[in-house]
Amino acid sequence: MRHASKAATHVTAAALLAAAIAGPWATMAQALDSPGGTPAVAASSSASAPADAAQAGGATAPSTHGTGGTEYGIVLARSRASGVAPPHKHSHSSRRPSFKPKAKPKPKVLPKPKPKPKPSKPAPAPVPPAGSATPPGVPTPAQTVSEGALFPVIGEHSFGNAENRFGAGRVGHIHEGQDVLASEGQEVVAPLAGTIITTAYQAGGAGWYAAEHTVDGLDFFYAHCQAGSLAVSAEQTVSAGQAICKVGQTGDATGPHLHFEVWVGGWQAAGGYAIDPLPYLEAWEHVGGG
Ligand SMILES: [Zn+2]
Repeated sequence: MRHASKAATHVTAAALLAAAIAGPWATMAQALDSPGGTPAVAASSSASAPADAAQAGGATAPSTHGTGGTEYGIVLARSRASGVAPPHKHSHSSRRPSFKPKAKPKPKVLPKPKPKPKPSKPAPAPVPPAGSATPPGVPTPAQTVSEGALFPVIGEHSFGNAENRFGAGRVGHIHEGQDVLASEGQEVVAPLAGTIITTAYQAGGAGWYAAEHTVDGLDFFYAHCQAGSLAVSAEQTVSAGQAICKVGQTGDATGPHLHFEVWVGGWQAAGGYAIDPLPYLEAWEHVGGG
């Protein structure tokens, strides 16, 4: 008992010395290496340590690498072994040719997580002023109505106020759509038949969204869908009135609404641009769904 306690004191001193040399990372790794309480460092730095401890120290060295493969582990294994190369070569070691065993290992500063790059949605496009006439060659609201276009939100809704309008100012850009305010979970449907271009999630902007290329050549963009409500996927054909998603407030939204865009020349395409959806929405309000 007395001997054991003495040995423990000795080992602790050795451990402290090693810790002072190798720094807090060494202490941490020692703890990892020595679940039984005998710091492995004693094996190489103290002659009075039991021989089996030395073996244990040698045997546990590789496991240091196994505890995650961090560079801390590599540095430690070398400093403990007093310059003896660790049993297995680590690919990182080639980058440290001038390693000094006694040098205090500098904890490597982990790279800061980079801010998530914004998904490539809104590439700024030329936007005609709100209320401008439908561009030549573009299906007019009346035309789409005659083709059976439907309002995209089923049930109660409103168009909000000025800030919900197409062309309203936003930080760094302008509002390229018309907001249709409604309750969370109300059905969003395709006003016109077409093909889904894409569906995706944009955390800082559109949230869950879908884009559709319609049979009329217009592209529609539906944003802020309720999470898990998207009922379509890319390349899927949809008919007028078919469910797209449900009204939600995902992404950059302060309340449930459908952010609806109408594009001419291709959604987000080179040469494509958004036009004011309100004349279309108002025309569709009085037919079918809305
Ligand atoms: Zn909006």
